[in-house]
Amino acid sequence: MYINVLWTQDEALKRFFSKQSKYPRFKKRHQVKSCCYTLDKRRGAKIFKPNDLPKLGKVKVVWSFQEIPVTPNSATVSCNSSGQWFISLQCDYIDVINPPETDKAIGLDFGLTPFIADSNGNRVKPRKFYFKYLRKLKSAQRDLSRKVKGSSNRAKNRIGVARIHQRIASKRGNFLHDLSTSIVRENQVTAIEDLNVRGIMANGKLARAVGDCDWSELRCQLTYKAQWYGRQLMTIGRFERSIGICPDCGSIGEKLLVNVREWECKECHAHHDRDSAAAKVILQKALTCLSACRQDRSGRQDTVRRTGIKACGLADKPEACLV
Ligand SMILES: [Zn+2]
Repeated sequence: MYINVLWTQDEALKRFFSKQSKYPRFKKRHQVKSCCYTLDKRRGAKIFKPNDLPKLGKVKVVWSFQEIPVTPNSATVSCNSSGQWFISLQCDYIDVINPPETDKAIGLDFGLTPFIADSNGNRVKPRKFYFKYLRKLKSAQRDLSRKVKGSSNRAKNRIGVARIHQRIASKRGNFLHDLSTSIVRENQVTAIEDLNVRGIMANGKLARAVGDCDWSELRCQLTYKAQWYGRQLMTIGRFERSIGICPDCGSIGEKLLVNVREWECKECHAHHDRDSAAAKVILQKALTCLSACRQDRSGRQDTVRRTGIKACGLADKPEACLV
């Protein structure tokens, strides 16, 4: 355990001297709720037995994996703020998932209503986990604020508040994992927008609803799951327009106000849903970029001219969007 503390301190100082971070701060005893044990691999299976963890002895554990393929390198025991304990094992093991290749591609438009609109016309409703627990959370936080600082009743109430936050986070996490896995499994290419979430969160009226959606977490999950499954995730530059462009003829219309949910193209008179049309445009841009990047520079410019759709920001950086 102490070796690990020294190791983390060494890492922190290295980062400080290479000017990557600030000088490490002193961590109080109650602040750090984790410790790491390095396992002696020479003793192999002797040291590692399920439910009889090294240096901890017999522990009642619920395993998230039935069988651990190799002997772990280290075990980290941690406790979160709602009092749940975790043991995570670090293993040298690469699990490659190879689902069958498909030729499907999907464009996703993130929003508040609907949470996701895809280029096939499907919509995913926002689940609003935070708002469902808002009443409970408010009442628990009010109780907490009335307790004397440093009292044991305050400590109990603090755990109560933390447990509500934990429940919201777990439910949201479960929902996002389901969604991202199904998207990545079913599609070879997924196109999304590079949203400026911090910028949107700066709008005080929207911040709570945007935070509840957790687009950043969804994007993060899509990114690593795409790598796992050998799929491709394309990100359209944040200054590229997707709303108000006709996906059928490619003509660029007027900028739409936030409350305009449906609109009609002035060129081809097609009727569009705001979010689905945006998702289609995102997909078209990604595919244009993808095919253009596979060709040389002149070919790329030709494709952009022929399709009439302005290439995405990534088209100038082919290495960023090639397989
Ligand atoms: Zn049109």
